[in-house]
Amino acid sequence: MPELPEVETTVQALREPLIGETITDVRVYWPRHVEIPAPDELRERIVGLQIKGITRRGKYLIFDLTEDETLIVHLRMTGHLSVVERDTPPDPHTHTIFALASGRELRFRDTRKFGRVYLVKDPEEVVGKLGPEPLEPSFTPAQLAQRLERRSMRIKPLLLDQTFVAGIGNIYADEALFYAGIHPERSAATLTDDEIEALHAAIQKVLRMGIEREGASIDRYRKPDGTRGDMQNAVAVFRRTGEACPHCGTPIERIILGGRSTHFCPSCQN
Ligand SMILES: [Zn+2]
Repeated sequence: MPELPEVETTVQALREPLIGETITDVRVYWPRHVEIPAPDELRERIVGLQIKGITRRGKYLIFDLTEDETLIVHLRMTGHLSVVERDTPPDPHTHTIFALASGRELRFRDTRKFGRVYLVKDPEEVVGKLGPEPLEPSFTPAQLAQRLERRSMRIKPLLLDQTFVAGIGNIYADEALFYAGIHPERSAATLTDDEIEALHAAIQKVLRMGIEREGASIDRYRKPDGTRGDMQNAVAVFRRTGEACPHCGTPIERIILGGRSTHFCPSCQN
């Protein structure tokens, strides 16, 4: 599933072809892709609007449109956005298409169909419950410590909770805990100040590495132009079960935690 670095890479790639474009039509082939409003109303409200800017909040793409409208897209498992010429042959997994004044199209391809589209006046309606942005200056070790207080949950599932901190998924949670030297099953409330500081630094390190390497093409994720990111070649523990830990050589172990595959070094993480 695309996480913060994969969504950020997508946002950065879409800015150049999309900012300044006007949406001239919307075609929805899988109505459940559109969460808010109804597809008919989406079309009625969005046609004629211009894309002023594209940003990200957590794993959501935020398109700032004229008329105070905001288009929000969540890629979920397999969603992929691309900008192509109108005459590019259609793909059976493309479920929502935004036609643009230039003759090109913004296409939302999504084999598993879990992705979602929202058109709202107030983005908070969709992203208001998200936790802090981990790469913002306001996300400090002190803020992380405060949010961890009295949380008895195990740290790995807590990192995946988007209301705790936004944008982290399975890959970057495993990688961050590895660099912080923290066992994924540790209770959040037991982390020491030093461990919280290490975790904060590790979260930012792995997310920045992911953005620099334009995302991890481990499953289906591809950049908007269809090419792969490079983060899969730099992961320390994720899906490296049995391989040598890059720090100490101990074989990486895999457990299921909160229903998710979890990879860690039993020697370095305690
Ligand atoms: Zn190790």
